[in-house]
Parts: sequence; C-alpha cells; structure tokens
Amino acid sequence: MIPAFVRNVLEQKLRGKKTIAIDFDGPVHKYSKGWYDGTIYDPPTPGVKEALELLSKKYRLVLFTCRVLPDQPNGLRDVKKWLKENDLSKYFSDITYKKPRASFYIDDNAVVFKNNWPKVLTEIRKRTSTNER
Ligand SMILES: [Mg+2]
Repeated sequence: MIPAFVRNVLEQKLRGKKTIAIDFDGPVHKYSKGWYDGTIYDPPTPGVKEALELLSKKYRLVLFTCRVLPDQPNGLRDVKKWLKENDLSKYFSDITYKKPRASFYIDDNAVVFKNNWPKVLTEIRKRTSTNER
C-alpha cells in the first residue's frame, strides 16, 4: 500500500504541479512571541489564507515545521488541529520537518543566497546585532 503523502506527490506530479514549501511559524502562524511556551498561540498571519488559496491552484503546497519532529509528541496533532480550526488544512498536501524538494521556499528565517557569501555573512551579522536572533 502506498502511503497517502507519497500518493499525493505522485498525483500532483501527474498533474504537473510544482511544489512550494512553506514554513509554519512566521509565514502561517503569526508567531508574535517566538517559541514562547511551545503552544500555537497566535492566529494566522494576515493575508495567508488568500495567498494559499491562490498558490494552491498552481502549486502543491508543503508545510514544514520542527513542531512535527519525532521528539515533539503532540506536535503533528497540534499543527493539524490549528490548521483545521483556521480552515487552512485543505491547502497543504504534506506536513514535514525535513526540507522538502521544492521550487520555492517561504521562510521568515531564510537568508537568500545569490552567489555572494560576503552578503550572507553581512545579513547574519545585521540580524544578530538587531537581536532578531
Ligand atoms: Mg519560521
């Protein structure tokens, strides 16, 4: 028997959809206090539902989050519950903690690499000095 997520990937591939991987905390869950106590305490980010609605027509959307790591016993259950309560489950074909194969990655912690390591180092220095991390 083929697991549901594998079947989903195969179906999307047959339909020619490319993937966009979207980080949960920041882009989807507002995450205004950071990790805080580990709960999913905020509402969705403004505009996320509309964006997912649009993107899902053309792309297969995969949610990635460390909340579903095997050492987080209730992580997957809590993420699924929150997505359902906020009517966002239908947009995601998979939830994973592993970096998925994707055409685009949407992540609030990303440092974009454009063939320029000094620029990456400057960006990290800038973010660490403003206590963003
Ligand atoms: Mg994040």
